[in-house]
Order: sequence, then C-alpha cells, then structure tokens
Amino acid sequence: MAIVKQTFPVGLYQCNCSIIYCDKTLEAIIIDPGSEPETIVAKVESKGLKVKYLLHTHAHLDHFGATSKVKEKCSAVIGLHKADEFLYNLHEQQSAMLGLPQTTISTIDHYIQDNEEFTFGEGQLKTLFTPGHTPGSISFSLEIGSELFLFSGDTLFNGGIGRTDFPGGDSELIVKSIKDRLYTLDGDCRVIPGHGDETLIGKEKRSNPFVRA
Ligand SMILES: [Zn+2]
Ligand SMILES: [Zn+2]
Repeated sequence: MAIVKQTFPVGLYQCNCSIIYCDKTLEAIIIDPGSEPETIVAKVESKGLKVKYLLHTHAHLDHFGATSKVKEKCSAVIGLHKADEFLYNLHEQQSAMLGLPQTTISTIDHYIQDNEEFTFGEGQLKTLFTPGHTPGSISFSLEIGSELFLFSGDTLFNGGIGRTDFPGGDSELIVKSIKDRLYTLDGDCRVIPGHGDETLIGKEKRSNPFVRA
C-alpha cells in the first residue's frame, strides 16, 4: 500500500487533523493543522515526511491554529479557498470568541479551487467546493487502494451537519452542497468529518436527520 492516512484529534475542539502520505516518496499533505503543532511535527519527523501542502477545509481557527507553526518546521504551501480568507484574517476575533490561544498567521500561498488535484507521490487529493458552513468550505476526496475517503470538514458530520450561525454561514447552501456534491459519492465512501467519528456516505444518506437524500 503506497498511500497512508493518519487522522488524530487536536486541541480544545478536537479537530480531526489528517496526515496523508506516499510511503514510497514520503511526500505528504496535512489537512487541517488545527492545534498542537508539536504533535503534528513529531509525527511528520518520525516518518521523515516531506510535507508539500498544508490544506484547510475552512478557516475556523480550530482548523488552522497550528498552521503557521507547522509551516516554520516544514516549508509547505498553505492552501485555503479565497472565500474564507476574511475569516482567516479574523483570527484574533475568533480566538476571543472560541476561547483559543492567539496565533500568528502565515500568508496563504495558494487559493484552493473546486475540482483541483493535489499530488503527493503516488497519491492524489481532489477538492469539492462545499460552501455553507463557511463561504469557502472545501471537502477533499482521496482513493486509497479500492477505498474512497472524504474529508468533509465541518460540512458533514456523523449524524449531523455544520453550524451556519457563524459569519458567512448559509443554512440552505450547506444542504445543497451536501446533496449535490457529497451524497452523489459512492455509499461506501468513508467520511472523516472535521470533528467526531468516521461515518459512511450511505449511512448519512439514509439516516442523517438534517439532510435526507
Ligand atoms: Zn467550522
Ligand atoms: Zn470545526
């Protein structure tokens, strides 16, 4: 197996951070380095990974709180959808509102587009634009062997969906994003949400009380 995925919760809000890498080239991508930069960097260094990208499902502080510190250690490209840049720049207000430590931010190097592909060794991470929780929310899909994984950020949870009462949230748009872009994926697709337990697209289509297929 060439592609490896590690997911672990970080910080006060237990944001699911994922490190995905190719075990042949050791090229890696980190999704949502939300907190605990030392934990993340230790995992990268223990495997000798070369991090190409630090990508974000959206710009709530619990998903990018460790980004600039991780970037200091591994000079990867920081990626975020442009429509969430205003939230990224509001990091001080977010830390006050969410009760999270203040952080410095690094420049966004790359604006993530819809249907974009990020290559790491033999792996390819693809983007799906799924606005609603925030204006620039992105989900990522990744094939590992015969399995499909979806990193859904705070758009789709196990038995829930993301809040839309923060600035820029849109309760109709999040439902449309889930129906049009996520529920059209294979039912066996494994969903890694931004918080909490893994689920399956098929299970959510059948039983998610907020968005039925
Ligand atoms: Zn969020
Ligand atoms: Zn979150």
